[in-house]
Amino acid sequence: MRKKKQLFWQLFPSYLVITLVSLFAIGWYASNSMRHFYMNHIASDLEARARLLKKQIADFLSPLDTTQIDLVCKKIGKPLSTRITVILPSGKVAGDSEEEPERMDNHADRPEVIKAFAGRVGNAIRYSSTLQQNMMYVATPLRQDNKIIAVLRTSIPVTSIDNELKSIQIKMVLVGMLIALFAALISLFVSRRISRPIEKMKQGAKKFADGDLTHRLPAPDSDEMESLAEAMNQMASQLNDRINAIIQQHNELEAVLSSMVEGVIAMDKDERIISVNHAATRMLATASSELMGRSIQEVIGDHALQRFLSNALSSEDPTEGDITLNGHNERILHAHSTTLCDAKDVRIGTLVVLNDVTRLRSFESMYRDFASNVAHEIKTPLTAIKGFAENIYHGEVDRPEETKRFLGIIIKHVNRLNSIVEDLLSLARIEQMDKSKEIKLGEGRIKDVIQTAIQVCQAKAETKKLRIDLICDEEFSAKIDPLLLEQAVVNLLDNAIKYSRKKSTIQVEADLKDKEINIRFKDHGIGIDSEHLPRIFERFYRVDKARSRKLGGTGLGLAIVKHIVHAHDGHVTVKSVPGKGSTFSIHIPKS
Ligand code: ADP
Repeated sequence: MRKKKQLFWQLFPSYLVITLVSLFAIGWYASNSMRHFYMNHIASDLEARARLLKKQIADFLSPLDTTQIDLVCKKIGKPLSTRITVILPSGKVAGDSEEEPERMDNHADRPEVIKAFAGRVGNAIRYSSTLQQNMMYVATPLRQDNKIIAVLRTSIPVTSIDNELKSIQIKMVLVGMLIALFAALISLFVSRRISRPIEKMKQGAKKFADGDLTHRLPAPDSDEMESLAEAMNQMASQLNDRINAIIQQHNELEAVLSSMVEGVIAMDKDERIISVNHAATRMLATASSELMGRSIQEVIGDHALQRFLSNALSSEDPTEGDITLNGHNERILHAHSTTLCDAKDVRIGTLVVLNDVTRLRSFESMYRDFASNVAHEIKTPLTAIKGFAENIYHGEVDRPEETKRFLGIIIKHVNRLNSIVEDLLSLARIEQMDKSKEIKLGEGRIKDVIQTAIQVCQAKAETKKLRIDLICDEEFSAKIDPLLLEQAVVNLLDNAIKYSRKKSTIQVEADLKDKEINIRFKDHGIGIDSEHLPRIFERFYRVDKARSRKLGGTGLGLAIVKHIVHAHDGHVTVKSVPGKGSTFSIHIPKS
């Protein structure tokens, strides 16, 4: 592209050319007019001189006396500084002030002479070969009886006039040059004056374009430029306001998107990610910079999610479904897609909202397992009760002691059912109270709680000749719900009794470490295999179901313990060596 000239370089040369052309034209016209004026003046002067001479020459024309004519010419010519020539109709020179007529050419062909013999005053400027210089000739007819009998030609050299005119022209050129210089300076000043505010405005506009919309253009001198600067400043200020508003909206939208728990991914029609929020990058374990502007095939490694996104883009209707991400940690996302439209309601892509439902789905499966476990737990005693009751009902048992045995079994199963229901109810109650923060913890002494629990379990311990030893500082206290904590301690003691060998000892010890009260329940029983340890706090989980049932266990005792201790902001741990015994520990913060 042709490089554009600066405004200054467009204005200044134009002004200069206009000035120079004008000066030249005026100079040329003036010098021509002046020459014309001078020449006219000389011509009239020569004509006037001829008129004065006419009479003296006419006397010698008829009869013709060339000697006298020539004499008159030479006599008058000198003092007048005028060359005087008399030419006869034949073209022969009759007299001349400067030359001998005999030596002169025939003058019939001279244009001024031809014109004079035609009856008019003829004049011409021509180089005279006789005098060897430029001359002005004026020829006037000399008449006698209305007949032209000769032509009187007066002439003077015009070299001096030409020289005079030349010196005037030189002066004019010098003055013209001075004027041109002055005009050039004025043009420079005017050009600068016009172009400088425009240059400043250009610089301001560049600053606007570079994003500095707080910059303001200074007010130039001229009215039009001031209006333009004002308009541009106003435009910048409005642009600034609008951009700020857009940035604020964008930030608000970003804040909303980034504080959303749901992951949001927006894609264009070409399957490119155009927006992604913080939650989505967390779910996909990728930085947003790696996702933005890239195609889903490039950046979404998980095939199930990639397929869902592609299907969502090709579908006009909203789609939804669960996607399992098989990464480092398996996650389940519930994805929901809707079409993404612009302000004119034209589809530009698809918006996908991702919900991490891993916990929800695991709760659902937990509750499903729980329901089936409950059903299973209840079914066994119910089947037994039904069987024995039917036997009695149908009279299949005739002996009274048999009937009594059957009824005893029924009562045992009913009790079992009762225990399950009671444990389930208390588990549900503790969970509910923990969730709704209903459990009111108050300052309580730990030793009192343990002692009461030991008393509750004492009778059962004695049946197996077990000794329960307690070591606990009287002063240990914590924020507790005494009844709930007692239930947890009873459950742990009950298990320790159930799974201890006869005549062994159960040690209950409490100590304080790192602002935490640790209560240990150590038995010398059957112990637990390490593979079961991670699961024994789950509902209905038992190492040996038959044994647990036989011992009257419901499989809910440890789950209840776990929930009660959680409600006290604490946690439970277990260590066990199969065949040697187990140690369950409750850790709760000291108040
Ligand atoms: P249960 O009613 O069967 O005792 P729990 O929830 O109290 O149910 O305990 C879950 C399982 O943990 C028990 O079935 C048992 O196998 C194991 N267990 C709990 N406490 C002990 C212990 N002190 N010694 C050995 N095993 C135990």
